[in-house]
Amino acid sequence: MANGVKYNRVVLKLSGEALAGDQGFGINPPELKTVAKELKEVHDLGVQVCIVVGGGNMWRGVTGEKLGMERAQADYIGMLATIMNALSLQDALEGLGVQTRVQTSIEMRQIAEPYIRRKAIRHLEKGRVVIFAGGTGSPYFSTDTTAALRAAEMNADAILMAKNGVDGVYSADPNKDSSAVKFDHLTHMDILDKHLHVMDSTASSMSMDNDIPLVVFNLNTPGNIMKVVRGEKIGTTIEG
Ligand code: UDP
Repeated sequence: MANGVKYNRVVLKLSGEALAGDQGFGINPPELKTVAKELKEVHDLGVQVCIVVGGGNMWRGVTGEKLGMERAQADYIGMLATIMNALSLQDALEGLGVQTRVQTSIEMRQIAEPYIRRKAIRHLEKGRVVIFAGGTGSPYFSTDTTAALRAAEMNADAILMAKNGVDGVYSADPNKDSSAVKFDHLTHMDILDKHLHVMDSTASSMSMDNDIPLVVFNLNTPGNIMKVVRGEKIGTTIEG
């Protein structure tokens, strides 16, 4: 068990946006390095870290659909985007001396391992960070749902939902509504009932059904990943 931490095994959900930096698109290596440094600190404490990366910095299936593509085809392109992000993150972490493995839900053996649950657990036990890429491997799903699924499969203590520029869950969009209030604690059912935009409903139901706590926090504040892992009161915790 890691020292002074609340969560020993976590699934960190990083949206594609988190890797894009100010340009809001593509991959920004300095931004990757910043995230990787924070992850290394947590990893050095002995916390077992899995990462699920999104792909929205490059492509989202729904966007393709709106532009006339077949949805499933557009979603596969999105899944490939998540694999590019995973390889970038792997590069940044390994550059800091953190051992990693990328596992993809769609086989791509020349560049990554296929997703094998028991192998992923073994990597964690050996102190390697495991990066899950390719989402669930099926169209019509999201990487939020992937995070809930992998958290259940890995028997993780929590999902850390890193947001860009938002420090938790609010009653309304704080950028548009000055009366919006931040919640410290919610249940998964609250999220579904109140239609709060934390993750999509498939991901929320999956987290609820499998009793997985979720912490929503601002990735842009340095030191936040560590604070969440230590159980400090930041962001919004969703459980029960
Ligand atoms: N995607 C998918 N199935 C999955 C996960 C992702 O089809 O299980 C596709 C979907 O098109 C999605 C894109 O990959 O829009 C990128 O993932 P996501 O939008 O979740 O990334 P994020 O918003 O976290 O950057």
